Amino acid sequence: MDKCYTENFTSSMFGSLVFNESVMQERLPKSTFKALKKTLRDGLALEAGVAEVVASVMKDWAVEKGATHYTHWFQPLTGITAEKHDSFVSPTEDGKAIMEFSGKELIKGEPDASSFPSGGLRATFEARGYTAWDCTSPAFVKDGTLYIPTAFCSYTGEALDLKTPLLRSMEAINVQAMRVLKLFGDTSARRVMTTMGPEQEYFLIDRDMFMNRDDLLFTGRTLFGAKPPKGQELEDHYFGVLKQKVSDFMRDLDVELWKLGVTAKTKHNEVAPAQHELAPIFSTTNIATDHNQLTMEVLKKTAERHGLACLLHEKPFAGVNGSGKHNNWSMATDDGRNLLEPGKTPKDNAQFLVFLAAVIQAVDEYADLLRSTVACSGNDHRLGANEAPPAIVSMFIGEELWEVIETIITGKPSSKVVGGHMTLGVNTLPPLPLDTTDRNRTSPFAFTGNKFEFRMVGSSQSIAAPNFVLNTIVAETLSQIADRLDKASDFTSEVNAVVKDIVIKHNRIIFNGNNYAEEWVTEAARRGLPNLKSTVEAIPAVATEKNVKVFAKHGVLSEVESMSRYEIMLESYVKTMRIEALTMVEMASRQILPVALASMKKVADTVSSLAAAGAKTDMVKKILDKTVDLATSLEANTAALQHCVDHLDGAEGDSLTHAKYIHEKVVPAMAALRADADALEVLVDSAMWPMPTYIDLLFKM
Ligand code: ADP
Ligand code: MG
Repeated sequence: MDKCYTENFTSSMFGSLVFNESVMQERLPKSTFKALKKTLRDGLALEAGVAEVVASVMKDWAVEKGATHYTHWFQPLTGITAEKHDSFVSPTEDGKAIMEFSGKELIKGEPDASSFPSGGLRATFEARGYTAWDCTSPAFVKDGTLYIPTAFCSYTGEALDLKTPLLRSMEAINVQAMRVLKLFGDTSARRVMTTMGPEQEYFLIDRDMFMNRDDLLFTGRTLFGAKPPKGQELEDHYFGVLKQKVSDFMRDLDVELWKLGVTAKTKHNEVAPAQHELAPIFSTTNIATDHNQLTMEVLKKTAERHGLACLLHEKPFAGVNGSGKHNNWSMATDDGRNLLEPGKTPKDNAQFLVFLAAVIQAVDEYADLLRSTVACSGNDHRLGANEAPPAIVSMFIGEELWEVIETIITGKPSSKVVGGHMTLGVNTLPPLPLDTTDRNRTSPFAFTGNKFEFRMVGSSQSIAAPNFVLNTIVAETLSQIADRLDKASDFTSEVNAVVKDIVIKHNRIIFNGNNYAEEWVTEAARRGLPNLKSTVEAIPAVATEKNVKVFAKHGVLSEVESMSRYEIMLESYVKTMRIEALTMVEMASRQILPVALASMKKVADTVSSLAAAGAKTDMVKKILDKTVDLATSLEANTAALQHCVDHLDGAEGDSLTHAKYIHEKVVPAMAALRADADALEVLVDSAMWPMPTYIDLLFKM
């Protein structure tokens, strides 16, 4: 048998394909290295002379690693990455060739942008786009190519990607958080960064079975499939022993990721059969985002090599849990202090409470915007389906921290808080007694001791948008706090007043109970929290005046950039669902109906034979009638779904109108068709069924 896994891992292999700081230090001339470091540290633009030297050294290093090409690697608004490869080879006059790579080529690329979504930003006559090196994320070699992480924008400078707003948002939160830190007398921090550790869930299935299902191939999820007798009810898969095939795959995956500098740390089986999870050690949000994109690519490629298919869709299978991505987020200073870590001294705690309050206010005021970042057709199957948080954004902070907040609100000391001296005076705040073990798994936005875990993100989604939104809205609330503290005559009492005002006004967002409970929906409505149940209901938040304004104010997205994103999200929803609908029509008419017909013939022949033999035919006739009825309904529902798509294709109106039509008409039509097909599946001879079933996919790997 083929030995799939690459090689035994040695620690020197970690990051061996990354042009990281130690490689730069070793290979760059001292002055160039110093200039580059300064650029990185101060967030400045790179000088042309420095870029020239870096490019040449980077090329030599990449060639040693087997690279013949380079690519600017970017993240267009499709949510996946894009690359266009150019070779280093440059012919010389004497008919030979040299390997060349200039500073210009490193810093800037000009890919044709016309085939990437722009939401109306790019005039059709101006197809040029620019990619610009993001020197804060290291270049790496993969598949014989030097990958240079870049930002992607239009000819006129508007962001056409997910990285640009993320970088801008990191700068915005840096500026505002530093203002607050300075007011607290912090003299050692030079920058504040956001940190991020995304936990990635995925499914692994057999590759041949994957190739034998058009729905998986075209849409990443099963559009048909009767429920198997066993699902996840025994909970025997969660943290269970890894199958050999899976274990081999994971081992290979880890090595591949480690070589690329991705700090893959934990891996285990998840709740649903065939479901798994991978979590890295956290890093800055920008690098974590690049690494998560890379992880998703490497997951798919590695699976392929192992005869498997990796499904990143939010809901590949009905009836068992879908996949998400837990977005663990915090803020840290460049000297390594986590700003969401409760401190040991009263002063530290006051500062912690200020940053916590900023997050509370941000999440309450911009709950709709945060919800919009996780709006995609795949997530419509998860959010609110008792397997993932509901579509209502709320925040879990735990009982102990809630005690502290209550004390601040009422001004009365709490008997339960250790020490019992919880008053508003900063100097009398005791160490916060936080129990971080009690975690509410149902909360969409949970404080887990020193970070927030945003659990609504879909498994296939880029984490860029959830993070640039988080960064921006917290930058906004921090700026309001800094404005108040700036003007304060008595700093300590103003700190108390700020925290108190915020928690009084915004504590409705805090909910420590069971988010899956029916009562919470009613309670949330009473509190006035938005419940944006579907993608179509969630996307409009991107375009509201309040939300457009906060992006513009902090220089993260201009008004036209926000509006283009709104358009692209709607378009992408409509396109995705249209493909799903057409795939169903195709499979129903060309695979399922023919099998139903063949089955009817077989059963009818049985009836005739039985009758000829003088035997009773009632039971067989009953099966025949049932099959005929279901096939009739299937045929009608296939035609109805096709009709919906035809109507959509001819429909006037804007993108929101089209998206609403999908949600209100196409989705129910798809459900009706699926119900017929799934009922037929359990009626006909399993040997005749034209595609691998849920039993095959989930249990026979
Ligand atoms: P869990 O019990 O949910 O697995 P962990 O503490 O192991 O929690 O963390 C889960 C993820 O959170 C990991 O990817 C980890 O790197 C990340 N994480 C931990 N601390 C931070 C932080 N300060 N900022 C961002 N992410 C973090
Ligand atoms: Mg988690």
